[in-house]
Amino acid sequence: MSKRTEVDHLCPCGSGLVLDDCCAAYINGSLPAPSAKALMRSRYTAYVQRNESYILSTWHRSTRPETASMNTDPPSKWLSLKIIACENDTVEFIARYKVQGKAYRLHEKSRFVYEDGQWYYIDGEIKS
Ligand SMILES: [Zn+2]
Repeated sequence: MSKRTEVDHLCPCGSGLVLDDCCAAYINGSLPAPSAKALMRSRYTAYVQRNESYILSTWHRSTRPETASMNTDPPSKWLSLKIIACENDTVEFIARYKVQGKAYRLHEKSRFVYEDGQWYYIDGEIKS
């Protein structure tokens, strides 16, 4: 367990925990995400880290795309994640990002499914 509290080591998902005590264990495969919310957070962190393989491996096979198109041109810089509401298998969130210095927000309600001991992302409804 890490005791570091420097901002640089905080998990990008905004939990306030250091990365090693938060999403890292799910992303490196040592633990399965225990809830849809935890999976959502770790997928956001994987977007920040441009970890396409984690994004795809946590995407349910019924809706999984060929690529996660993270290397968009121009590139997007993820700024923050705020979870607004969550139920057992849905998570509603606002993610903020910048493209070429201009700020955007993504407000989405994502659906997840628990299958074979693991949570998977299915799809999302854009809210506004
Ligand atoms: Zn995290």
